[in-house]
Amino acid sequence: MPQQGILLVVSGPSGTGKGTICRELLRSNPQLKYSISATTRQPRTGEADGVNYLFVAKNHFQTMIENDDLLEWAEVYGNFYGTPRHYVLEQLKNGYDVVLEIDTQGAMKIKEKFPEGVYIYIIPPSLDELADRIHKRGTDSLEVIKKRLHCASAELAQAHNYHYIVVNDQVAAAVQKVETIIAAEKHRAERNTDLIDSLCQARCN
Ligand code: 5GP
Repeated sequence: MPQQGILLVVSGPSGTGKGTICRELLRSNPQLKYSISATTRQPRTGEADGVNYLFVAKNHFQTMIENDDLLEWAEVYGNFYGTPRHYVLEQLKNGYDVVLEIDTQGAMKIKEKFPEGVYIYIIPPSLDELADRIHKRGTDSLEVIKKRLHCASAELAQAHNYHYIVVNDQVAAAVQKVETIIAAEKHRAERNTDLIDSLCQARCN
Protein backbone atom coordinates (compact mmCIF):
# COMPACT_ATOMS: atom_id res chain seq x y z
CA MET A 1 0.00 0.00 0.00
CA PRO A 2 1.49 3.39 -0.96
CA GLN A 3 1.68 6.01 1.78
CA GLN A 4 -1.38 8.31 1.63
CA GLY A 5 -0.59 11.53 -0.28
CA ILE A 6 -0.78 15.02 1.18
CA LEU A 7 -3.79 17.21 0.54
CA LEU A 8 -2.60 20.73 -0.20
CA VAL A 9 -5.13 23.56 -0.14
CA VAL A 10 -4.07 26.86 -1.71
CA SER A 11 -6.16 30.03 -1.37
CA GLY A 12 -5.64 33.75 -1.72
CA PRO A 13 -7.42 36.81 -3.07
CA SER A 14 -8.21 36.94 -6.78
CA GLY A 15 -5.16 38.17 -8.72
CA THR A 16 -2.66 37.14 -6.08
CA GLY A 17 -1.01 34.71 -8.51
CA LYS A 18 -2.00 31.43 -6.86
CA GLY A 19 -2.90 29.93 -10.23
CA THR A 20 0.57 30.66 -11.63
CA ILE A 21 2.20 29.26 -8.49
CA CYS A 22 0.13 26.05 -8.74
CA ARG A 23 0.96 25.63 -12.46
CA GLU A 24 4.69 26.00 -11.75
CA LEU A 25 4.47 23.54 -8.84
CA LEU A 26 2.74 20.96 -11.03
CA ARG A 27 5.31 21.39 -13.81
CA SER A 28 8.22 20.46 -11.58
CA ASN A 29 6.54 18.00 -9.19
CA PRO A 30 5.07 14.93 -10.97
CA GLN A 31 4.08 13.62 -7.54
CA LEU A 32 1.56 16.45 -7.31
CA LYS A 33 -1.88 16.27 -8.97
CA TYR A 34 -4.31 19.13 -9.57
CA SER A 35 -7.95 18.86 -8.61
CA ILE A 36 -9.95 20.34 -11.50
CA SER A 37 -12.96 22.10 -10.02
CA ALA A 38 -16.43 22.18 -11.49
CA THR A 39 -17.84 25.66 -12.06
CA THR A 40 -20.89 27.38 -13.49
CA ARG A 41 -18.73 30.37 -14.51
CA GLN A 42 -18.28 31.04 -18.23
CA PRO A 43 -14.83 30.10 -19.60
CA ARG A 44 -12.41 33.00 -20.06
CA THR A 45 -10.43 33.38 -23.27
CA GLY A 46 -7.79 30.67 -23.33
CA GLU A 47 -9.50 28.43 -20.77
CA ALA A 48 -10.47 24.91 -21.79
CA ASP A 49 -13.03 22.50 -20.39
CA GLY A 50 -11.36 19.68 -18.45
CA VAL A 51 -8.09 21.62 -18.19
CA ASN A 52 -8.79 24.75 -16.15
CA TYR A 53 -12.23 23.76 -14.95
CA LEU A 54 -15.09 21.45 -15.69
CA PHE A 55 -17.48 24.06 -17.06
CA VAL A 56 -20.99 22.90 -16.26
CA ALA A 57 -24.53 24.30 -16.41
CA LYS A 58 -26.26 25.28 -13.16
CA ASN A 59 -28.61 22.28 -13.26
CA HIS A 60 -25.66 19.92 -13.76
CA PHE A 61 -23.90 21.50 -10.77
CA GLN A 62 -27.08 21.05 -8.72
CA THR A 63 -27.16 17.36 -9.67
CA MET A 64 -23.52 16.98 -8.57
CA ILE A 65 -24.47 18.45 -5.17
CA GLU A 66 -27.50 16.15 -4.84
CA ASN A 67 -25.43 13.08 -5.77
CA ASP A 68 -22.79 14.03 -3.19
CA ASP A 69 -20.19 14.17 -5.97
CA LEU A 70 -18.51 17.24 -4.47
CA LEU A 71 -16.20 17.31 -1.44
CA GLU A 72 -17.15 20.95 -0.97
CA TRP A 73 -18.80 23.69 -2.97
CA ALA A 74 -19.30 27.43 -2.61
CA GLU A 75 -20.72 30.45 -4.37
CA VAL A 76 -17.90 32.83 -5.27
CA TYR A 77 -18.46 36.18 -7.03
CA GLY A 78 -21.93 35.02 -8.15
CA ASN A 79 -20.85 31.67 -9.63
CA PHE A 80 -20.71 28.17 -8.16
CA TYR A 81 -17.47 26.25 -7.74
CA GLY A 82 -16.93 22.76 -6.33
CA THR A 83 -14.30 20.07 -5.80
CA PRO A 84 -15.12 16.69 -7.38
CA ARG A 85 -14.82 14.06 -4.66
CA HIS A 86 -13.78 10.92 -6.55
CA TYR A 87 -10.60 12.25 -8.21
CA VAL A 88 -9.17 13.72 -5.00
CA LEU A 89 -9.79 10.64 -2.84
CA GLU A 90 -8.47 8.28 -5.52
CA GLN A 91 -5.20 10.22 -6.00
CA LEU A 92 -4.58 10.50 -2.26
CA LYS A 93 -5.20 6.78 -1.82
CA ASN A 94 -2.68 6.05 -4.58
CA GLY A 95 -0.04 8.08 -2.77
CA TYR A 96 -0.16 11.25 -4.88
CA ASP A 97 -0.24 14.68 -3.31
CA VAL A 98 -3.23 16.71 -4.48
CA VAL A 99 -3.53 20.47 -4.72
CA LEU A 100 -6.89 22.23 -4.38
CA GLU A 101 -6.90 25.85 -5.52
CA ILE A 102 -10.09 27.01 -3.88
CA ASP A 103 -11.61 29.95 -2.01
CA THR A 104 -11.62 30.41 1.77
CA GLN A 105 -15.20 29.11 2.27
CA GLY A 106 -14.36 25.87 0.48
CA ALA A 107 -10.99 25.61 2.22
CA MET A 108 -12.60 25.77 5.67
CA LYS A 109 -15.11 23.06 4.74
CA ILE A 110 -12.23 20.87 3.55
CA LYS A 111 -10.27 21.64 6.74
CA GLU A 112 -13.11 20.21 8.83
CA LYS A 113 -13.02 16.97 6.81
CA PHE A 114 -9.24 16.83 6.34
CA PRO A 115 -7.56 18.42 9.38
CA GLU A 116 -4.34 16.63 8.37
CA GLY A 117 -4.23 18.64 5.10
CA VAL A 118 -1.79 21.50 4.53
CA TYR A 119 -3.44 24.91 4.22
CA ILE A 120 -1.48 27.65 2.45
CA TYR A 121 -2.62 31.22 1.95
CA ILE A 122 -0.96 33.25 -0.80
CA ILE A 123 -0.87 37.02 -0.31
CA PRO A 124 0.22 39.83 -2.63
CA PRO A 125 3.02 42.18 -1.52
CA SER A 126 0.37 44.97 -1.23
CA LEU A 127 -3.25 45.74 -2.17
CA ASP A 128 -2.06 48.26 -4.79
CA GLU A 129 -0.01 45.52 -6.41
CA LEU A 130 -3.08 43.25 -6.34
CA ALA A 131 -5.25 45.85 -8.11
CA ASP A 132 -2.52 46.35 -10.69
CA ARG A 133 -2.25 42.60 -11.38
CA ILE A 134 -6.02 42.15 -11.82
CA HIS A 135 -6.16 45.09 -14.27
CA LYS A 136 -3.15 43.82 -16.23
CA ARG A 137 -4.61 40.30 -16.45
CA GLY A 138 -7.32 41.87 -18.62
CA THR A 139 -9.65 38.87 -18.37
CA ASP A 140 -12.45 40.46 -16.36
CA SER A 141 -14.87 43.33 -16.92
CA LEU A 142 -14.46 46.50 -14.81
CA GLU A 143 -17.52 45.54 -12.80
CA VAL A 144 -16.08 42.11 -11.98
CA ILE A 145 -12.69 43.64 -11.12
CA LYS A 146 -14.39 46.03 -8.68
CA LYS A 147 -16.28 43.16 -7.07
CA ARG A 148 -13.08 41.10 -6.70
CA LEU A 149 -11.09 43.97 -5.19
CA HIS A 150 -13.92 44.73 -2.81
CA CYS A 151 -13.83 41.10 -1.60
CA ALA A 152 -10.02 41.03 -1.27
CA SER A 153 -9.85 42.70 2.16
CA ALA A 154 -12.51 40.41 3.62
CA GLU A 155 -10.71 37.43 2.05
CA LEU A 156 -7.40 38.49 3.61
CA ALA A 157 -8.99 38.45 7.07
CA GLN A 158 -9.36 34.67 6.64
CA ALA A 159 -5.61 34.15 6.34
CA HIS A 160 -5.18 33.26 10.02
CA ASN A 161 -7.17 30.05 9.47
CA TYR A 162 -4.36 28.67 7.32
CA HIS A 163 -1.15 26.92 8.39
CA TYR A 164 1.21 28.90 6.17
CA ILE A 165 1.30 32.37 4.59
CA VAL A 166 3.36 32.84 1.43
CA VAL A 167 3.96 36.31 -0.04
CA ASN A 168 3.97 36.18 -3.82
CA ASP A 169 6.49 38.89 -4.67
CA GLN A 170 8.43 36.74 -7.17
CA VAL A 171 6.76 33.62 -8.59
CA ALA A 172 9.92 31.46 -8.52
CA ALA A 173 10.62 32.38 -4.90
CA ALA A 174 7.00 31.74 -3.88
CA VAL A 175 7.05 28.34 -5.62
CA GLN A 176 10.24 27.46 -3.79
CA LYS A 177 8.65 28.38 -0.47
CA VAL A 178 5.66 26.13 -1.16
CA GLU A 179 8.00 23.29 -2.16
CA THR A 180 9.87 23.75 1.12
CA ILE A 181 6.57 23.57 3.02
CA ILE A 182 5.62 20.32 1.22
CA ALA A 183 9.06 18.82 1.92
CA ALA A 184 8.83 19.69 5.62
CA GLU A 185 5.27 18.36 5.87
CA LYS A 186 6.37 15.01 4.41
CA HIS A 187 8.77 14.65 7.34
CA ARG A 188 6.21 15.23 10.06
CA ALA A 189 6.31 12.44 12.63
CA GLU A 190 2.57 11.77 12.37
CA ARG A 191 2.89 11.17 8.62
CA ASN A 192 5.67 8.64 9.18
CA THR A 193 4.29 6.35 11.85
CA ASP A 194 4.29 3.38 9.42
CA LEU A 195 8.01 3.90 8.81
CA ILE A 196 8.78 3.90 12.53
CA ASP A 197 6.50 0.91 13.16
CA SER A 198 8.14 -1.17 10.42
CA LEU A 199 11.62 -0.35 11.77
CA CYS A 200 10.55 -1.36 15.28
CA GLN A 201 8.98 -4.55 13.91
CA ALA A 202 12.18 -5.46 12.05
CA ARG A 203 14.17 -4.93 15.27
CA CYS A 204 11.81 -7.17 17.24
CA ASN A 205 11.78 -10.04 14.70
P1 5GP B 1 -11.80 32.24 -10.85
O1 5GP B 1 -13.17 32.57 -11.34
O2 5GP B 1 -10.91 33.45 -10.77
O3 5GP B 1 -11.16 31.11 -11.63
O4 5GP B 1 -11.96 31.69 -9.37
C1 5GP B 1 -12.65 32.45 -8.41
C2 5GP B 1 -12.41 31.87 -7.04
O5 5GP B 1 -13.01 30.59 -6.92
C3 5GP B 1 -10.92 31.69 -6.71
O6 5GP B 1 -10.69 32.13 -5.37
C4 5GP B 1 -10.74 30.20 -6.81
O7 5GP B 1 -9.68 29.74 -5.98
C5 5GP B 1 -12.08 29.72 -6.30
N1 5GP B 1 -12.36 28.32 -6.67
C6 5GP B 1 -11.96 27.64 -7.77
N2 5GP B 1 -12.37 26.38 -7.72
C7 5GP B 1 -13.03 26.23 -6.55
C8 5GP B 1 -13.69 25.13 -5.91
O8 5GP B 1 -13.74 24.01 -6.39
N3 5GP B 1 -14.27 25.38 -4.72
C9 5GP B 1 -14.24 26.60 -4.12
N4 5GP B 1 -14.83 26.72 -2.94
N5 5GP B 1 -13.63 27.65 -4.68
C10 5GP B 1 -13.04 27.47 -5.89
